[in-house]
Amino acid sequence: MVQENIKKVEAKIQAACAGSGREPKDVRLIAVSKTKPVEMLQEAYDYGCRDFGENKVQELVDKYEQMPKDIRWHMIGHLQRNKVKYIVDKVYLIHSVDSLRLAEEISKEAVKKNIAVSILVEVNVAGEESKFGTTSEEAAALVEEISKLPNLAIKGLMTIAPYTDVPEENRPYFAKLKQISVDITRKNIDNVSMEELSMGMTGDYEVAITEGATCVRVGTGIFGERQYTTL
Ligand SMILES: *Cc1c(COP(=O)(O)O)cnc(C)c1O
Repeated sequence: MVQENIKKVEAKIQAACAGSGREPKDVRLIAVSKTKPVEMLQEAYDYGCRDFGENKVQELVDKYEQMPKDIRWHMIGHLQRNKVKYIVDKVYLIHSVDSLRLAEEISKEAVKKNIAVSILVEVNVAGEESKFGTTSEEAAALVEEISKLPNLAIKGLMTIAPYTDVPEENRPYFAKLKQISVDITRKNIDNVSMEELSMGMTGDYEVAITEGATCVRVGTGIFGERQYTTL
C-alpha cells in the first residue's frame, strides 16, 4: 500500500514538473511519517525513500534509533528550545525555525557538539493565527539576524499553507514564499542560501511544485489518514 502510494505521488510530482518546466530531481519528496509505526516507514525505505519528516522530538528520536542510519530526518514541527539538544545531531534539516531565540539555542547546541546544522526559516505567509512562523514582513530581517550565529546554515524558507479542499487557493501563498526568497537572495547575505523552498503537503503539493517548491512534505498521500488518540 505504502509503495503503491509513493509511486502515485512520484507520478504526480513528475506531471507537475513537466507542466512547469522543472526537473523531478529538483523536488525532494519528504515522507511525513508522524504517528505511523516503523513498519510502515520501513516499507517506504525499502522502496527507496531516504527523506522522512517528523514533527515531535521524542518520536523522531525513537524512530531514528530504530531505522537505518542513511535516512535524512527532517524536523518539520514546532520545536521547543529545551528539546533542541536531543535532535541537533540527528536531523538533516530543521524546517521550523521561527524565532531568533530558537535559532540561538540550535546554534549553541551545534557549537557544543562541533557540528553545522542546516535550517529553514518558517514563514506564516497566510498570516493564520493558529500557525507558527515569522511574518512575511519580518522574514528577511530574521534571516539576517540568524545568519550571524555560528554553526548554522540557512538553506531557505518553509511555509505551511492553510488547509483547503481547493489547492489552487494556496497558489498565492506559495508564490509569496518564492518572492520572499528571491528578495532575500538579492540581499546577498553572508552565510545564507535560498536554495530550498519547503512547501506543499498532500492536498496541494502539485500547486507548490509549479510555484517552485524544492521540498514537498507528504504524509497522508503516502501513509494514509492519521489517527490521533487522546491517550
Ligand atoms: C503533518 C504535516 C505534513 C503532512 O501533511 P499531509 O497533509 O498528511 O500530507 C506536512 N508538513 C507539516 C509541517 C506537517 O506537520
